[in-house]
Amino acid sequence: MNNETTIVKCPTCHKPVVWGEQSPWRPFCSKRCQLIDLGEWADEEKRIPSKEEISDSEEWSEDR
Ligand SMILES: [Zn+2]
Repeated sequence: MNNETTIVKCPTCHKPVVWGEQSPWRPFCSKRCQLIDLGEWADEEKRIPSKEEISDSEEWSEDR
């Protein structure tokens, strides 16, 4: 028999996740949970686009 289903628990929200092709974010249930675990989710929230932070002097340095 080849229809074994492996269920893992999402490390972030502890939801059951089927370990298979249909779960690209395994062992996480979703990309969101993966990002949370990596600490990138909070980082993304913090990273509010600020135009003042963009320094155009570096981008256009070739035209000095
Ligand atoms: Zn999850």
